[in-house]
Amino acid sequence: MQKRFEYNLISILERVEKARLSFNSHHIVKLIAASKYVREKEIAALYSCGQRAFGENKVQDLSAKAKSQELEKLPLEWHFIGSLQTNKINSLLALNPHLFHALDSIELAEQLQKRLARDNKKLKALLQVNSAREVQKSGVAPENALEIYSQISQIAPNIELQGLMCIGAHEQDQKKIAASFELTRKIFEELQKSTKNRAEILSMGMSGDFELAIKCGANMIRLGSVLFK
Ligand SMILES: *Cc1c(COP(=O)(O)O)cnc(C)c1O
Repeated sequence: MQKRFEYNLISILERVEKARLSFNSHHIVKLIAASKYVREKEIAALYSCGQRAFGENKVQDLSAKAKSQELEKLPLEWHFIGSLQTNKINSLLALNPHLFHALDSIELAEQLQKRLARDNKKLKALLQVNSAREVQKSGVAPENALEIYSQISQIAPNIELQGLMCIGAHEQDQKKIAASFELTRKIFEELQKSTKNRAEILSMGMSGDFELAIKCGANMIRLGSVLFK
């Protein structure tokens, strides 16, 4: 298993490298291993290949894996990449995730802020943008993203917004997928221009579209199936 993962990881890193250079040679891309399809044993094997950042999309799975006997003592960086229901906020915060990728409403930010302030904690988060405008996807509408980002920064001082996340259009047409990434990057660049906001992370790209995402400016990619196959 470890040999196979090592092979997958190396071939992905080669593909990332090519895409990165075609965007900008100073551009650095961070890989998050989306480990939702696999168990502790597979995560430990990928860790042995050098991977440190892992992402889960269900709070109960993150909890079970992060606290498991096999993984608890490893210095893993856990990301929470799924939608967060309000009744799971306390459980998520108790796990001190490194980054929450899918903050998708002012209401959720308010709920998080209440719990964070009570426990005197901070949470790093990305605002999820529904750049493909697909009803089945979460995220704020692209035209509202800048306003909501600023609003959250004001009302939720314990949430440290770091940038944006999006899921590429569910499409075969590469141009349409690219359009959803480009739109997110435009919003990201607007955020970077304004001095009152901080925006450093642009999380976009999955197994089927990560090279395209990188060429559109992604500096964080979330890969599952291509990594653990
Ligand atoms: C599962 C998941 C991924 C990874 O998906 P793959 O297509 O398997 O690479 C990325 N982002 C989110 C939010 C996910 O839930």
